[in-house]
Amino acid sequence: MSHPIPFFQQVNLHFDRAARLLELPAGLAEQIKSCNAVYHLSFPLQRDDGSIEVVHGWRAHHSLHRQPVKGGIRLSLHASEDEVSALAALMSYKCALLDVPFGGAKGAILLDKAKYSDGELERVMRRYTYELTLRNCIGPSVDVPGPDMGVGPRELSWMADTYIALARGERGAAGCVTGKPLSQGGVRGRVEATGLGVYFGIREAVAEVDTMRALGLAPGLDGKTVVIQGLGNVGLHAARFLAADGVRVVGILEREGALYASGGLDFEAIAARRDAGGSLLEFDGEIRIEGGREGVEGLTWPCDILLPAALENMITPDIASRVQARIVAEAANGPTTAQGGEILRERGVMILPDMFLNAGGVTVSYFEWLKNLSHVRFGRMERRFSGASTGRVLRAVEELTGNAFDPVVVERLSVGASEADLVRSGLEETMVSGFQQMREAARRWNTDNRAAALAVSIQKIAESYSERGIFP
Ligand code: NAD
Repeated sequence: MSHPIPFFQQVNLHFDRAARLLELPAGLAEQIKSCNAVYHLSFPLQRDDGSIEVVHGWRAHHSLHRQPVKGGIRLSLHASEDEVSALAALMSYKCALLDVPFGGAKGAILLDKAKYSDGELERVMRRYTYELTLRNCIGPSVDVPGPDMGVGPRELSWMADTYIALARGERGAAGCVTGKPLSQGGVRGRVEATGLGVYFGIREAVAEVDTMRALGLAPGLDGKTVVIQGLGNVGLHAARFLAADGVRVVGILEREGALYASGGLDFEAIAARRDAGGSLLEFDGEIRIEGGREGVEGLTWPCDILLPAALENMITPDIASRVQARIVAEAANGPTTAQGGEILRERGVMILPDMFLNAGGVTVSYFEWLKNLSHVRFGRMERRFSGASTGRVLRAVEELTGNAFDPVVVERLSVGASEADLVRSGLEETMVSGFQQMREAARRWNTDNRAAALAVSIQKIAESYSERGIFP
């Protein structure tokens, strides 16, 4: 993708704006924002027809202030050193904001997934993992890749399997990647985690009565409208959770084009049709645009919330000056250019920045990693005990009051939390606390959400240096 300003430079423009709010020792801001290392890998792939192709991939380690480093891997035709460096930096900042104890990393493989067979993709993922292993760039205590565009549970199980085979009995080796299928050491709730985190973040934002009034919106989710770019893992799950709270999906932008229907689109039917090889444009709507590039115009369609969940640098100055949404919810990484963001701010649009809003993925990845290191399912030790304890309390209340509870209610309350319950609750706690930290900082420094979130992160990373006696 051709960026007006390189993506990493854009992230650093945001960084500089936030760093000005802090009084950091000379040189420290420079150290925090620089990317520690970027590895460029090239390796051969034997195609199914016997021909040999050289595949290029990257792995960037942005910050080692916490280890292991952590960040997704994407399969994309736009992958580059600049892109992985920028995305690794965003990982450092989002982990710091959400108190997820990892440094930031990101990986990418330059290819168009649709043009390769399953067997070819498996060979690519396994060889990429082997190349990372050779350089000590993967492992539960050094670097833990996860899902991103084009990489899901299947690809991650190939990676885990390859690493475990090479790790020769290393304890907790399954924690070398997150986003694995459950049978391979995954955690319940990881697949939908980023979309659920996006939902929690938006829910918290629209609950702020004064902020919503200032935006000209009613508080709460019920009745709000959303336009979504990218109906993939993040976009689809976010749509599901938002719709369950009364939000109407009025516009969808995808690779093949964009569709708008003021009465709402059946996004489940659209996703199912696309999964089966069909197109968004087979559905009815009041406005339709053919072509992914042309479809970007859909970002300016009328709605309350604009939810980009596909690529970076989509909200350019031209788009930003015509966005009709009052809230831009950055589910994707880096969807708004630095200048686009300035225009949105001038126009009074509220941005929920990527480094906060899509951090649900890495949060639940952290839980998966903990599960792999401890070799025990969340809730296994205490579920039955805590359920029985609640049952005993209910019976004691019955005895004291002489009134019996409805047995159905007693049965429901006497069940302890399952892994899925605990993961969801841990994710909600993390997103709500991240939101509060960001909003409190925005008020303290009288600034916007992105600068506030970044300033909180930078401050935490700076403290981790000074706590170790570096840059006192
Ligand atoms: P995905 O591959 O599952 O989905 C991406 C979707 O975007 C696909 O449906 C694709 O067809 C669509 N798309 C691609 N090009 C498009 C275009 N030009 N116009 C409109 N749509 C287009 O990927 P994902 O995991 O959902 O990731 C989406 C974004 O969220 C990325 O920016 C990623 O870095 C970010 N993210 C993902 C996770 C995660 O856990 N998966 C976590 C944090 C952030």
